[in-house]
Amino acid sequence: MSNLQQYIDLETVLSAEEIVHFLNSEGDTTLQLFTTARKIKLNYIGNVVHFRGLIEFSNICRKNCYYCGIRKDNNAVQRYTLSEDEIVSAAQFAHQNGYGSIVLQSGELASPQFTDFIERILRKIHDTTNGQLGITLSLGEQTEETYLRWKQAGAHRYLLRIETSNPALYQQLHPNNPLHSFHSRLNCLLTLKKLDYQVGTGVMIGLPFQTPEDLANDLLFMRQLDIDMCGMGPYIEHEQTPLYAYKDSLLPLQKRFDLTLKMIALLRILMPKINIAATTALQAIDPLGREKAIQIGANIIMPNITPSKYRQHYLLYENKPCTDENADDCLSCLEARISMINHRIGKNERGDSLHYQQRKRNT
Ligand code: SAM
Ligand code: SF4
Repeated sequence: MSNLQQYIDLETVLSAEEIVHFLNSEGDTTLQLFTTARKIKLNYIGNVVHFRGLIEFSNICRKNCYYCGIRKDNNAVQRYTLSEDEIVSAAQFAHQNGYGSIVLQSGELASPQFTDFIERILRKIHDTTNGQLGITLSLGEQTEETYLRWKQAGAHRYLLRIETSNPALYQQLHPNNPLHSFHSRLNCLLTLKKLDYQVGTGVMIGLPFQTPEDLANDLLFMRQLDIDMCGMGPYIEHEQTPLYAYKDSLLPLQKRFDLTLKMIALLRILMPKINIAATTALQAIDPLGREKAIQIGANIIMPNITPSKYRQHYLLYENKPCTDENADDCLSCLEARISMINHRIGKNERGDSLHYQQRKRNT
């Protein structure tokens, strides 16, 4: 296997075989991977971390993804939706505290009422924060018209994980009906690009039936789609989901964690200027998980600013952290943690993807 540095200098794409080699690596080879990714991040992005205040405003979902704790058929979940005022207040909290950007996330709902609800909220947030907040939506699959209306109302970015780029694996993870179609999800990503959103996707790592080859292809898929942002994290089982039946076939949590760090480092090498999130699921496995991800290539953290009384009801997986903290507790502890790893927070900055900005300049 050739020296990694050579590929970076030549700006050559790593092959699937080479990616698998690094995913399976240990010791010095892994260290070389992490050191290279870290250098690339510091070179292109610097030691700045941008925040996205995450508002999980509803756990009501029309879908039944086999892995997700808030899937429609999980009757043990107490369902909630924040009021318009609660959502706008959380956005104002983010604005006043220098977060620069927010993410509005929920289960997947699709109705004229839902489209109007989000549109109204986007306009209110825009008006009450002087249009200064960057707004990412993560509201699942919607029609082109809905995506367009939300963009015109003030959304800048959209996060829609493909979950896995292998259509056969996708099918194993979802019910077999049109609401859960790999091709529809892919089409949504293409539509979002066409509408000029900053587009983010991602995958779960350590899923049942998933191979290192699948993960290598996931990274090449993201590069081929020319995404602007990525949020990927370890799959963590949830007892009230169908996939829990496969819990004994999973990699140990620590291995899923290590594999996620390698995926982040490899993606940073493949796509030096995109925004990569250090996801909450990493923190569920290792309390310092997000800091470790920042040190090897990630540059975005999504502190949870959902009002604390709702957090216990948005349990996608077991041991989800920060379910009993107030938003400002999270902010102060994060500031200290980030300075301890010699990074700084880009306060009051939107932190748009450099990759997107370059893409725009070239069109
Ligand atoms: N409903 C929207 C969607 O699916 O795109 C947005 C919210 S959904 C809860 C956000 C992400 O949570 C999904 O894309 C999925 O990757 C992740 N997720 C769900 N269940 C998970 C689990 N058990 N472990 C890790 N991540 C999970
Ligand atoms: Fe719903 Fe998203 Fe969970 Fe699937 S992953 S069940 S769409 S909230």
